[in-house]
Amino acid sequence: MEHTYKEPAPITDKENPFESMMARFEHAAQILGLEDGAYQYLKSPVKQIITSIPIIMDNGSIQVFEGYRVIHNDILGPSKGGLRFAPDVTLDEMKALAAWMTWKCAVVNIPFGGAKGGIKCDPAKLSLNELEKLTRRFTANLLDIFGPERDIPAPDMNTNEQVMAWVMDTYSMHTKTTARAVVTGKPLILGGSLGRREATGRGVMMVSIAALKKKGISPDAATAVVQGFGNVGSVSAQLLAEKGIKIIGLGDISGGIYNSRGLSIAQVMEYFTRNRALTGFPEAESISNEDLLELQCDLLVPAAKEDQITKHNAPRLRCKIITEGANGPTTAAADPILEDKGILVVPDILANAGGVTVSYFEWVQDRTGYFWSLDKVNKRLERMMHEAFDNVYHHAGTYKVSLRLGAYVLAINKVASTLKIRGIYG
Ligand code: GLU
Repeated sequence: MEHTYKEPAPITDKENPFESMMARFEHAAQILGLEDGAYQYLKSPVKQIITSIPIIMDNGSIQVFEGYRVIHNDILGPSKGGLRFAPDVTLDEMKALAAWMTWKCAVVNIPFGGAKGGIKCDPAKLSLNELEKLTRRFTANLLDIFGPERDIPAPDMNTNEQVMAWVMDTYSMHTKTTARAVVTGKPLILGGSLGRREATGRGVMMVSIAALKKKGISPDAATAVVQGFGNVGSVSAQLLAEKGIKIIGLGDISGGIYNSRGLSIAQVMEYFTRNRALTGFPEAESISNEDLLELQCDLLVPAAKEDQITKHNAPRLRCKIITEGANGPTTAAADPILEDKGILVVPDILANAGGVTVSYFEWVQDRTGYFWSLDKVNKRLERMMHEAFDNVYHHAGTYKVSLRLGAYVLAINKVASTLKIRGIYG
């Protein structure tokens, strides 16, 4: 038999997100002096599921999609994490995102483990009918994985309240119950929570204000750039502007817009709703996505996708604070560069944890059948985000490391201590 030797892939900064996550995990595990057994346990996902999802397309043909659910860890409680629909979804990406959910839930101190799932598909090319079939068949395939006490999905990239409603309905039909708590990020009418849609952006705003305070910058005098204009980016921009911060740059997949005098978020929102893109907004110059990240500003919020800040562009960044609205927007190779530059990075597992925190509130409300006011949701979110920020800051100070490593140390310590008390069954 002939063997073809394959050259190992060159080491580039386009890291596999799982490796990027592992680099931070390993560093934090070392700082903590984590025992080898616990290290082995926490680095391996509990379950990795790949499922084929056949559906009949609108034209009558059968198409088979690939779906994933990775449960990284369930020591702190049922696993929690979003579902994303995108053409570039891979198992490795799911593994990284699932692990980030484990650490994120531990950082904000909610009783969940971490998971992530998705379907490799291009939702823009699917009809609503096809999207519904895809979601329902995926849910049916994972019936014995999902459950209010087992594994609870939520929205992520390209999934929304409607998709969550289909998951909830499919699961409920099979279990012959009204299983509200099987999924979060649902429409209000189905047992969703007030404030869930804005929660990630609201959390981003809260920790950004806390970081500005640490740097001695008043919000009224601060400028910000937000990359990404989906749910997280648009809400973050809006709420930061409400706090008096001048938003000078915004970007989406169509490109970036810049105005040194500040952009009116209300006008941008209106333009975006009409045109489904930011580019061409009249009151601004258009700039590339690369240039957007390198604008001089106090606060940069990458809220688009992974691997945006790399060792290549990190030396050119001119911000004082980065609040990671997206999961994994900074590669591990960029971390030391940002640290040397004195940029304060509020890491993803803290910065974007507002979403899963209000998901937790939604799950609690669904299980008690008693729903809270928006004011109560936002106040409780604020308390939990501030406690988490202070706790991460404290850990970073104690171990003399970045906020990112401080957050990992805090999270890994919490999960490892829980593992120790629970013990290993078998
Ligand atoms: N997909 C979101 C995240 O990455 C929310 C997860 C959830 O609410 O379960 O944090």
